[in-house]
Amino acid sequence: MKQDMLIKDLQIKLILLFTITTCSVLAAVLLSVWRITQEQWESDKERQFETNFLSACDLVRNSNSISHTEIATLEIGGQAAVLVEDNGTALNYTGAYYTKTSREVLFGKLKSKLKESGQDFESRTLTVKENASSMYEIEGQYGERYFGAAFVVNVKGGYRSIFMLGEKEDKSGSRAKQGRLILVVGAAGGILLFLLSNFLIRRVLKPVEDSRKNQSEFIAAVSHELRSPLAVIRANTAALTSMKENDSSKDMFLSFARGIDKECVRMAGLIEDMMFLTFADAGTWKMDMQEVDLDTLLIETYDFFYPYCQEKNRRLKLEDNGLALPQVKGDKERLRQILFIFIHNAVSYSKDGDLIVLRGFTDKKQAVLQVEDHGIGIEDEKKKEIFKRFYRGDKSRKDKTHFGLGLSIAMELIQLHGGSITVTDTLGGGSTFSISLKII
Ligand code: ADP
Repeated sequence: MKQDMLIKDLQIKLILLFTITTCSVLAAVLLSVWRITQEQWESDKERQFETNFLSACDLVRNSNSISHTEIATLEIGGQAAVLVEDNGTALNYTGAYYTKTSREVLFGKLKSKLKESGQDFESRTLTVKENASSMYEIEGQYGERYFGAAFVVNVKGGYRSIFMLGEKEDKSGSRAKQGRLILVVGAAGGILLFLLSNFLIRRVLKPVEDSRKNQSEFIAAVSHELRSPLAVIRANTAALTSMKENDSSKDMFLSFARGIDKECVRMAGLIEDMMFLTFADAGTWKMDMQEVDLDTLLIETYDFFYPYCQEKNRRLKLEDNGLALPQVKGDKERLRQILFIFIHNAVSYSKDGDLIVLRGFTDKKQAVLQVEDHGIGIEDEKKKEIFKRFYRGDKSRKDKTHFGLGLSIAMELIQLHGGSITVTDTLGGGSTFSISLKII
């Protein structure tokens, strides 16, 4: 439970870390996009003002007199406030373009700016025909900002000046729309990144969680398996110690002692299997890899198991197809162990008189060793399960030498050889276990 909490805690921390990091990157990108679009927007606005100002200059330069309609057209088309003065006197024009701060204040500010920079557009003292100011930025009373520029030209009977103020603000609301869009994209991106991190981190941590679960199940199964032999040993030793001189017949004593020995052998076998699996998990199991003659291995295995199968009333056959098997690289003792597991199972899961066939052949670039039985067979949905540790098809089996570790050990061993195991149905019933190894 505590470990579960640790993994959950780690999961939450990783999700937070991932989400915060990716969201910060997203926010930085969106902010840059926002700044770039703003700068772009402002420079577009500035260019637009310049164009409008140049048309206004043209109008002032080329017309003898300027009508209110012309000024109004300039104002509406250029989104700007325009002030025209003849010899320093403003035309009597109220303005068609609305500014938040009054026009008087704004034009006053522009004129002071022009004066500050040494440019006089109100009293014509210059000798040149015309003069255009550079562009200025004017701030209104409410914080709104304007571009401002002025132009003066000599006309018949004096001079004419024009002052122009173009609003720098976004009256159409397109900037605000852009901002809202970026905010929505940011929020949606944040949610997506959170969901993605949740999904990815759960996936990444799944093997850790599974392995922890497997470990707990493994320990639970081992404890369970070790409890029963220990109980038998304790019962037998209790019986031995309570034996009285007169009723301690030699036979009874031997029977209890044999019971203890049998359970010790069983426990030793289980501990050996578990040690192998632990070493295999840790990647520290040492293999003695050499060239292996598979024909010899098959014959030796057959010779070893023949008496055992006789005793168990099974018919063991070594099939010979007349072709010599190729050499493979492997640990002969471990390959023998795999065949032992298969034959041991074939005997256990078949009945009196059944045939068990041992054979080897070459398939493409693989050498294949097979143990075929005609026993109870394995249902398709269980074919994967049987390679899991402590899996037993029939948990109620009386045969106490079966801990459900055989096939998982065979699988680990073949994987250490870079080979594979398959299980198929035998024609007519039963199972066929095969191992494939790369030919050298
Ligand atoms: P066990 O020690 O129980 O035999 P294994 O890992 O060797 O453990 O096998 C796991 C399970 O696979 C067995 O309990 C059995 O249900 C099934 N099994 C293995 N070999 C055979 C076989 N030749 N025929 C039928 N079932 C088999």
